[in-house]
Amino acid sequence: MKARMKKVYPQTSTAFAQDDRQAASVSTDLLPLAMRLSTTLASISEAFATLDLTGGFTYFNKESERLLQRSAPELLGKKIWLEFGEAVSASVQSKLEQALTTKHHVEFEEFFVSIGKWLEMRVHPFEEGFAVYFRDISARKVAEEKIHHLAFYDILTELPNRQLLLERLERAVNDMQIAQQFGALMFIDLDNFKTLNDTFGHLKGDVLLQQVAERLTACVRQEDTVARLGGDEFVVLIQGLGLQSQVALSKAQVIASKVLSVLGEPYDLAGFEHHSTCSIGVTTFGAQPSSVSDLLKQADLAMYQSKSLGRNMACFFDPHMQTVASANAALNADLRTALQNHELVVYYQPQFDRARRMVGVEALLRWQHPQRGMVNPSDFIPAAEETGLILPIGQWVLEQACQQLAAWSLRPETAHLSIAVNVSSRQFRQPDFVDSVVAVIQNCGCRADRLKIELTESLLANNMESTIAKMNALKAMCVSLALDDFGMGYSSLSYLHRLPLTQLKIDKSFVADVCTTPNAAAISHAIIVMAQSLGLEVIAEGVETEAQWRFLADQGCGYFQGYLLCTPLPLVGLESFMRSHKE
Ligand code: C2E
Ligand code: MG
Ligand code: MG
Repeated sequence: MKARMKKVYPQTSTAFAQDDRQAASVSTDLLPLAMRLSTTLASISEAFATLDLTGGFTYFNKESERLLQRSAPELLGKKIWLEFGEAVSASVQSKLEQALTTKHHVEFEEFFVSIGKWLEMRVHPFEEGFAVYFRDISARKVAEEKIHHLAFYDILTELPNRQLLLERLERAVNDMQIAQQFGALMFIDLDNFKTLNDTFGHLKGDVLLQQVAERLTACVRQEDTVARLGGDEFVVLIQGLGLQSQVALSKAQVIASKVLSVLGEPYDLAGFEHHSTCSIGVTTFGAQPSSVSDLLKQADLAMYQSKSLGRNMACFFDPHMQTVASANAALNADLRTALQNHELVVYYQPQFDRARRMVGVEALLRWQHPQRGMVNPSDFIPAAEETGLILPIGQWVLEQACQQLAAWSLRPETAHLSIAVNVSSRQFRQPDFVDSVVAVIQNCGCRADRLKIELTESLLANNMESTIAKMNALKAMCVSLALDDFGMGYSSLSYLHRLPLTQLKIDKSFVADVCTTPNAAAISHAIIVMAQSLGLEVIAEGVETEAQWRFLADQGCGYFQGYLLCTPLPLVGLESFMRSHKE
């Protein structure tokens, strides 16, 4: 008997390991008590039962019958752990023991699988057993779960949200530190998601986000966390990457590559095939203590690094990146006030034809920083593009150029000159870009055919149709269009004939090598031939030597710009250059 009881209730403590003889006598002694209780407690609206010290039911009231869906005769004398398997679970057992040893009542919640209900149990110990009150708290539990779900999960994708991610990350950082193991945090941002949303609407965007969530979840193990931070930003938290940082890095790299390839597969957005890529930033954490907010910043920075290096790739955070980022942050803060403080200046670099006659200039932005001195555009334009500051800045450059054109148009010796203005992709993509160019030209009273807009190949990476439409609208106004840094980007040559371009600009990196590297020579030659076949002008930028000039001129390049001929100059310098350059 003792053996049998041990078998059913293997973890029975001394408090429960009553001698069966004693248990039996308690049980029979309790019988009259149970009968008295049954009369006095019949009116109680709460579900109430008594158990003897061995867990056998000695009393079971009407409400208990209703709640536990069992009749009293069925249960009396039966052990609770045999009738309700869940009641022998470790938590229930330890609560009963606790009540017995402390001689105090205990309250706890337990899910009764057999009846599918959450019950709150209040157990009062007395000498011969326990008085147990049951209360159905299922409705509260469902509500709690719903609230929990709303608070910790993203509604659209059902993924954990930022809040839950932060909690899990905090725990993961601690766990990995204790286990001396490495984990990784991965920031994933979809490339050009905004374009999809703007072009095809939010419903299609939502479908894409849901599919991305499913694919990401399938990429990682169940114990890893895939969260959505909002918008098109996802985070993957991976733990247990091993004890060595190098190994952890390479494992994280493998996962990142997998994510890149899985998210790069075509999507079916309700019958329409869509292609998307993502940029990933990865940071690792391990034995050294690290703060959750630092890790998030690091992964975010690394992700931005991926974006700036051309997207569709994964970058790892390292301390050097942090240093660069801090310096950039300071510069960005200053850039916000640069325009109001009149610290921006337009320089002009002359452009020449084959006869070395000056035909126009390119407007190149400079920042006269009060402490740092002259800052070149490559040090602040990328950040300005990221923050959107490029919009007011680009507008200002355009206004300066058009005012200058208007001033030159009044003088016969300068009326023929054109000004090329660099327009960043973000600026060009503004829905009102064409209108704003029209407005500036009209306000300044300059000739539209003297204005040239330089675009870069990155603009052609997506949304080709709307890009072409805008280019056509500008062309219809007689504004010229040049494709800058040609040969460097990823533009599809097959589209080139569809673009209403006036000019291709051979990137200065090819020009620099044109006399020394056969490849560069071959590329510039091919660009010139292709431009001629498409009826486009070709200009070489960054011409520094006579040898480069000669080589390019011999191949048929029509226009030139570079230090050999003239450096970028402020307006005053340009005016004096023009005077001295007069043939
Ligand atoms: P970009 O449009 O390709 O401009 C040509 C760059 O080559 C200029 O650099 C110019 O100073 C430099 N350069 C000219 N001749 C030579 C040469 O002989 N040798 C070498 N090595 N370089 C030469 P900069 O002024 O630093 O401008 C860099 C880039 O910043 C520009 O490249 C353009 O993409 C961007 N940028 C400049 N101004 C603006 C602007 O107003 N708006 C926008 N969105 N971007 C601008
Ligand atoms: Mg340019
Ligand atoms: Mg260029």
